[in-house]
Amino acid sequence: MVSQYQEIKERVWAANQEIPKRGLAIYTFGNVSALDAARGVIAIKPSGVDYEKLTVDDLVVVDLSGKIVEGKLRPSSDTPTHLVLYRAWKSIGGVVHTHSTSATGWAQARLPIPIYGTTHADHLAEDVPCTSVMSDEAVERDYEVETGNQILECFKNRDPLHVPMVLVAGHGPFTWGETPEKAVYNAAVLEELARMAFVTRTLDVDAARLPDRLIRKHFERKHGKNAYYGQK
Ligand SMILES: [Zn+2]
Repeated sequence: MVSQYQEIKERVWAANQEIPKRGLAIYTFGNVSALDAARGVIAIKPSGVDYEKLTVDDLVVVDLSGKIVEGKLRPSSDTPTHLVLYRAWKSIGGVVHTHSTSATGWAQARLPIPIYGTTHADHLAEDVPCTSVMSDEAVERDYEVETGNQILECFKNRDPLHVPMVLVAGHGPFTWGETPEKAVYNAAVLEELARMAFVTRTLDVDAARLPDRLIRKHFERKHGKNAYYGQK
């Protein structure tokens, strides 16, 4: 019998395949999930399974409280972090976590990624934020849930669809989007922005941020009611 979650599982499987393909992870690093809002569940990569061995049937379906509703394997250990984000932000439909090298480098340096150029401004109109470092108490309490809470804390005054990415200090990036495909796209974009910013800062430690007028121009070309980039 075909699973009632077949469609979301197939999309999550395909989105997970993009992670090694885009050079965003080695071995089993990283995970993608997607929300089926109508059914109140997410599908997510199982814990510790290689991307090349991953099958659609391996994906785990859990409800928004984290209870497994379908699947034989254990869900990704990062599942509670994904769930914190889905519960808080009704606008998102996909979440990605990787340890992609350049983005993780900035996260380990505990630095936001400065908005140095128009490639960055095309995607978000501010620096890529970096959370604070987790306290010892939070690590002891519930590490994965607290990772989600740290992200929410960092986004108290941000719209997650305007800033679809974050660096978790000392750890690595999380990205999201209205769909799992968009969340993966944002993970690849973030890695590229991180690499470009690293090169920029290496060449000039005092490199200037892009002027506000250019930031707004580039962001608004692609976002909002007056967007005109691409095809109708
Ligand atoms: Zn991680």
